[in-house]
Amino acid sequence: MQTISATNYSIFFNEKSYEFLAEVLVPNRYSKVFILVDENTATHCLPTFLANLATEVTIEIIELEAGESQKNIETCLQLWHSLTELGGDRKSILINLGGGVISDIGGFVACTFKRGIDFINVPTTLLAMVDASIGGKNGVDLGNLKNQIGIIREPKAVLVLPEFLATLPSNEMRSGLAEMLKHGLIYDKEYWNQFKNLSDLNTEDLNILIHQSIQIKNNIVSEDLTENGIRKSLNFGHTLGHAIESYFLESDSKTPLLHGEAIAIGMILESYISKEKKLLTNEEYHEIKYIIKDIFETVNFSQTDIKNCIDLLIFDKKNEFGKVQFALLDGIGAIKINQECDNDLIYNAFEDYQ
Ligand code: NAD
Ligand code: ZN
Repeated sequence: MQTISATNYSIFFNEKSYEFLAEVLVPNRYSKVFILVDENTATHCLPTFLANLATEVTIEIIELEAGESQKNIETCLQLWHSLTELGGDRKSILINLGGGVISDIGGFVACTFKRGIDFINVPTTLLAMVDASIGGKNGVDLGNLKNQIGIIREPKAVLVLPEFLATLPSNEMRSGLAEMLKHGLIYDKEYWNQFKNLSDLNTEDLNILIHQSIQIKNNIVSEDLTENGIRKSLNFGHTLGHAIESYFLESDSKTPLLHGEAIAIGMILESYISKEKKLLTNEEYHEIKYIIKDIFETVNFSQTDIKNCIDLLIFDKKNEFGKVQFALLDGIGAIKINQECDNDLIYNAFEDYQ
């Protein structure tokens, strides 16, 4: 698969990833190579990764527990200490081998250690391959506030090895798929059309879809790294999706949803709003709803749930000047950003989703 050029770095696939590492991890280039893993990627991905790594440079492995609960400033403190104790200096490099939690926190730690050392993302979840590892956003949560602390800085490279997906649980695969569907909906109708026959999908097809999805995300962020314009299109499904995700997380009676599961619902709801605003036809809306509902389990929302989700919207960090702003579909494959919408319409979107 063709290497993708990002603004200041490249996204390599399969064997080209290891060729890149062999060129970069030579003596005297980096004083020390650190690999950050979580307990699952330590088991499932690290042995293969190390076996393919041809370098004489000393490698130190740093392992975290798995999960979003690790993505906080206390873990950063622990990582800054580990890097220091293991002899890290300005010429060290950090390789983030894991899902979005590892690339977000590893990227942030690399950007802040010694005022910034190089880092490479090696995403091991579908979501991290097509989304989290690309685009330079690094950071951690502050209490319940997701990604409240962070920095935009791009990695030295991103290395995509889809073989790692073999051990990824199916719900985590679906979670990543939601972002791929989003890329089609907001940017490329032909790409979206490929998801209509998902049941026939083999590994080779999936790898091509991953490559195309990365290309879409990269095109968008290359044009607008700091999210002043087109990058906001990536928020499609996320305005309501985030509120739903937070509500399920905080509610004692609900099982938390994975990010992509919440975004899938958010995309159906925001497609409904797009339709009501005459940006999407009835047929397009029903196609989107049908395809997404076919992949993701349907969630039932009571009237109280809907009200609570709408209340939570006001905490969305993307609200500007006190108003909730949506990125809405403008037909399939295009988007209109900075769209406002009243609460009744949001309520109707939830009702129609059921
Ligand atoms: P994650 O990193 O928690 O990974 C999900 C689970 O899969 C974890 O338990 C992990 O240990 C396990 N895992 C990872 N690779 C595996 C493999 N190959 N085999 C088996 N198990 C494996 O979560 P995620 O879904 O990858 O990422 C979510 C995070 O990404 C969130 O914190 C979110 O905020 C962030 N994110 C960031 C951006 C960005 O632009 N920076 C974009 C989207 C999401
Ligand atoms: Zn997302």
